[in-house]
Amino acid sequence: MAYIEKRQADKRQVDKRQPDKRKALAAPREQTQCRFCRSKTKHIDYKDIPTLEKLLTNRGKIYSRKRSGNCAGCQRKLKKAIKRARHMALLPFTA
Ligand SMILES: [Zn+2]
Repeated sequence: MAYIEKRQADKRQVDKRQPDKRKALAAPREQTQCRFCRSKTKHIDYKDIPTLEKLLTNRGKIYSRKRSGNCAGCQRKLKKAIKRARHMALLPFTA
């Protein structure tokens, strides 16, 4: 008997929580994939200056992951590509 009561209580709790959960799911989401994952880029080219420039501030700093929307892996690849481009004097270290 106690078991059944407990189950019913649990069920009620779940039902109470359900509307909030649905609301959260229905809310508009941000982009689920980063720009490189969307275009299925496996390798970020350091010579691809137009793409890299979009991810730099006008002072030459790299935008944060939060700002650029990149995933962790792509941000790491991007970092390497930008640093290579800087070394080859294709991008500025500072401006
Ligand atoms: Zn990515």
